[in-house]
Amino acid sequence: IKRIGLLTSGGDAPGMNGAIRAVTRSANYHGLEVVGISHGYRGMINKAFKTLESKDVSNILQQGGTILKSARCMEFKTIEGRKKAYDNLIEAKIDALVVIGGDGTFTGAGLFAKEHNFPVVGIPGTIDNDLYGTDFTIGYDTALNTIVDCVDKIKDTATAHERLFFIEVMGRDAGFLALNGGIAAGSEAVLIPEIPTSYADLKSYLANGYRKSKNSSIVLVAEGEKEGGAFNWAKRVEKDFPDYDVRVTILGHIQRGGTPSASDRILASRLGAGAIEALMDDQKSIMIGIENGEIVHVPFTKAIKNQKGVKQQQLDLVKILSN
Ligand code: ATP
Repeated sequence: IKRIGLLTSGGDAPGMNGAIRAVTRSANYHGLEVVGISHGYRGMINKAFKTLESKDVSNILQQGGTILKSARCMEFKTIEGRKKAYDNLIEAKIDALVVIGGDGTFTGAGLFAKEHNFPVVGIPGTIDNDLYGTDFTIGYDTALNTIVDCVDKIKDTATAHERLFFIEVMGRDAGFLALNGGIAAGSEAVLIPEIPTSYADLKSYLANGYRKSKNSSIVLVAEGEKEGGAFNWAKRVEKDFPDYDVRVTILGHIQRGGTPSASDRILASRLGAGAIEALMDDQKSIMIGIENGEIVHVPFTKAIKNQKGVKQQQLDLVKILSN
């Protein structure tokens, strides 16, 4: 391997820049070239290639977003689109690929690698933390801290007015942000896709806390929660309890931005260097992860099957601590 293509794809996550820096500098350190591909898979199809050197990745470690830009690319979902991308890589003499993204990105990478027998290594970059085989994904810690900071602020005003807030956080299929955000910010309940909460249960949590001992209440709702999100739950509660002062906040894209936390910078640096080492070691179609402090290699097919799972025990903790 001599020249490695590098891209960020899918939803952006704080810390992706740290991974771009680590991939570029580790590759340079080992005498390999890096070609930055902008706008994810779309850049492979449009030949948006530009050589990256050490100086090009100066001063980006502390920046959110991704200097390579990200995009969603429908054409890459077709065999023809992936063939075009392959031809462009060959023309540019790129002989391996590092992709930074989430499960969709790895699904595409797996297909591309198989169809063209091309070495591809993935780095988990998504705020959702929904990839199997790594304890954390790049961006999750920063997003979680943003959520906690926002909930703390909302709690101040919730308490001043004795209000009940439903706060919706990101997570289309995974409730890690809602669950751990709820634990860290001391919410009354969390509503997540993996383990549904019944309306009856929610009512009893609220009756327990909100009316008896608290003068405000916070419920964190993952956007992928099955009953239709924060507004739906709020409407139901308002209808049944007209005396509750109910409000809804959707945190939205604020969760994707901001300077990456120290943990995300370290994770991105280790995973970026790990990706280059894996390619030099002839590894293919794997995600680099960290489990129990150690770098691990996880086949794409395993990583994308959202089997990390939320433990009932963690959900119970929210209930016990909001008592
Ligand atoms: P996040 O979880 O943060 O949203 P992601 O990587 O899952 O990130 P997606 O939008 O699902 O984000 O996927 C990114 C890109 O990967 C898509 O725009 C598409 O180009 C490619 N991709 C996704 N799914 C497939 C698929 N089934 N086949 C081929 N390519 C795919």
